[in-house]
Amino acid sequence: MLVYIAGAGAMGCRFGYQISKTNNDVILLDGWEDHINTIKENGLKITGDIEDNVKLPIMKPTEAKDEADLIILFTKAMQLPQMLNDIKGIIGENTKVLCLLNGLGHEDVIKQYISEKNLLMGVTVWTAGLKGPGHAHLQGVGSLNLQSLDPSNLDEVHQIVDMLNAADLNAIYDEDVIPNIWRKACVNGTMNSTCALLDCTIGELFASQDGVDMVHEIIHEFVTVGSAEGVTLNEEEITKYVMDTSVKAAHHYPSMHQDLVQNHRPTEIDFINGAVVKKGKKLGIDTPYCQLITQMIHAKESVLKIK
Ligand code: NAD
Repeated sequence: MLVYIAGAGAMGCRFGYQISKTNNDVILLDGWEDHINTIKENGLKITGDIEDNVKLPIMKPTEAKDEADLIILFTKAMQLPQMLNDIKGIIGENTKVLCLLNGLGHEDVIKQYISEKNLLMGVTVWTAGLKGPGHAHLQGVGSLNLQSLDPSNLDEVHQIVDMLNAADLNAIYDEDVIPNIWRKACVNGTMNSTCALLDCTIGELFASQDGVDMVHEIIHEFVTVGSAEGVTLNEEEITKYVMDTSVKAAHHYPSMHQDLVQNHRPTEIDFINGAVVKKGKKLGIDTPYCQLITQMIHAKESVLKIK
């Protein structure tokens, strides 16, 4: 199988690295010059749970020529349309495209570029970080759930699941992945944006009764809008999951804190809390907590002159 990783940042390097250990071909696609040059010259350096260095082909998306069997999308949400535009040349009639980005509504964007029959939507709890160009830091164990939007191609999709499992990525074929995508977006929507705004760890947020009250309101908005869209979400179960995660990840600064506060990078807010606001507006549902949080994050991006 020829697998392209479209967006070879932290997560793309994890998936690219692990798939490179199977008997499939992997090509990383990215636009960051230093990262490309470092990987070309010195290979991809892996630290964390494993220490390794692998030679992996990497190029800009527009330089890729061979038709893909599978493309795994791993840009940030707002970077997705440009990437989809730049990989048109490697998408063939049977190329499958797997989306594992955080956030809501990506299927609507991707369908503008590829046929729905080739689209696999998914969600992952793997994590990864970059220490610098060409250097991925990989810790912990995760899994991923994926589903084909077209049930007629399940044999091919199960081959992809097998390939991901050969790469020890713990993939599961999920008969109903969309609620799981919403569930993770809800976890992100309660902790990422709030900890970024309050400049605090997850534990510090949940130590505040006001913080916990706000989390309950945000969960309620996600569940209300999701349910109105036909996505079945169990508020009690999600609340328990969020509370359990807050204990396990108490000492962590969520990724939006890293993006906004630590690295002054644009956030994925429009695809998390902002997506709930947008969908709520269409459905006539007020989402005051998600709306204020989205505006506050954009205001902070503006204060920090982040584009
Ligand atoms: P990242 O910023 O580290 O990687 C994105 C990469 O895509 C960058 O290297 C960037 O140069 C490249 N890119 C973007 N647009 C491009 C374009 N048009 N052409 C060429 N290259 C382009 O992000 P990440 O942390 O790997 O996250 C990717 C997605 O996975 C996000 O949606 C994120 O929320 C999600 N996610 C991340 C983690 C994590 O632990 N990092 C965990 C689960 C899910």
